[in-house]
Amino acid sequence: MTRLSHGFAMGLCLCALLAGSRLGKPAKAEDIAERARELHFSSIVLDTHDDTTQRFFSKDFDLGRRNPDGHVDIPRMREGGMNAIFFSIWIDGRIMGPPAVQKALDQIDAVHQNVIKYSKDLVFCRTADEIRHAHAQRKIAALIGVEGGHMIGNDIRVLRMFGDLGVRYMTLAHFYNDEWADSSTDKPAHNGLTDFGKGVVREMNRQGIMVDISHVSDKTFYDALEVSKAPLIASHSSCRALCNHPRDMSDDMIKALAAKGGVIQVNYERSFIDQAYKDAYDKLSGGIVAGFEAIAKSCGDDQECLQHKMTDANKQLTAEGKLPHVSWEKIIDHIDHVVKLVGPDHVGLGSDFDGATMPEGMEDCSKLPKITEALMRKGYKDEDIRKILGGNLLRVMEQTEKVSRELQAQ
Ligand SMILES: [Zn+2]
Repeated sequence: MTRLSHGFAMGLCLCALLAGSRLGKPAKAEDIAERARELHFSSIVLDTHDDTTQRFFSKDFDLGRRNPDGHVDIPRMREGGMNAIFFSIWIDGRIMGPPAVQKALDQIDAVHQNVIKYSKDLVFCRTADEIRHAHAQRKIAALIGVEGGHMIGNDIRVLRMFGDLGVRYMTLAHFYNDEWADSSTDKPAHNGLTDFGKGVVREMNRQGIMVDISHVSDKTFYDALEVSKAPLIASHSSCRALCNHPRDMSDDMIKALAAKGGVIQVNYERSFIDQAYKDAYDKLSGGIVAGFEAIAKSCGDDQECLQHKMTDANKQLTAEGKLPHVSWEKIIDHIDHVVKLVGPDHVGLGSDFDGATMPEGMEDCSKLPKITEALMRKGYKDEDIRKILGGNLLRVMEQTEKVSRELQAQ
């Protein structure tokens, strides 16, 4: 650098500093915060995985008021600009057959009843267009995803009825293998998808139910990718390249998912986004499934108890220094990893609110605007941020709807 250009650069720096000091802080930073809020609160912010449904069965929870615990309710959704939510239907993966169907129906009904109860704020949606319409009316779009193929009770007719009841995605398996799909956290039993399992995927295509590959084994993922005529989603998974967890996706899987138009919705769970945390947690608990089983055993059927005990155990272990701190900014690292790998069209948000341990700074859904601001500070274009917040998932929904129409016309 010459003396002249050095002086010129210094001059520029001083100008910026003077301008900044007049406003109290650097003008540019303030601009970004304001622009980010504007972008965030005018976007469709869609989360594909929330376990809040479990709380509908607790007398202490009310979706319509601000609750002192948990991650999601209408006031906090409004505050965080989260205006489209997939309520997850979940039961323990070891419950199969008719009891699994019955319990799934109880939860589907609970979602519909809550939407009716809070119809001033919520509207039940089945299509991408309905979500856009809800957004235009300033309402929160409520959708349903079934988390685990065990809930169809090994009966394809139940899957069709789920479709009629408004289920818009189904995760092929949960923590355990079901009768026709291998899980990523169980010993392989079917070498991926069985023939019946492949039939389930085809029927999901016909019904317009998105095929969710979170929780499934790598082989199940590749089988589903081959069979499905519609793009796949990972409703709540992160990147193995940054945190080597079987619940996350490898770079090869993300590339294959993206090549067929799919989307990975990043999960905020600490042990899925931070390697040091995962390693420490595994050492303490003997692995995620062992840890989950120990707490599940003490809570029986009570999901509220399960969630509280998981959160309390985590807080205590972090305070004792046995688990490292994890910042919410790790979420941004995972989004950015996918964008660098396959571009901005194949990543979105799948928090796992009310079903996972949130990183520090993302205590609940009211903190979501931070994600938009962080992406803007990284230099992401507005249109790409909108895609990540919800546009990419809407695109996959539309493609799924188109495939369904075509198959039903045959
Ligand atoms: Zn899950």
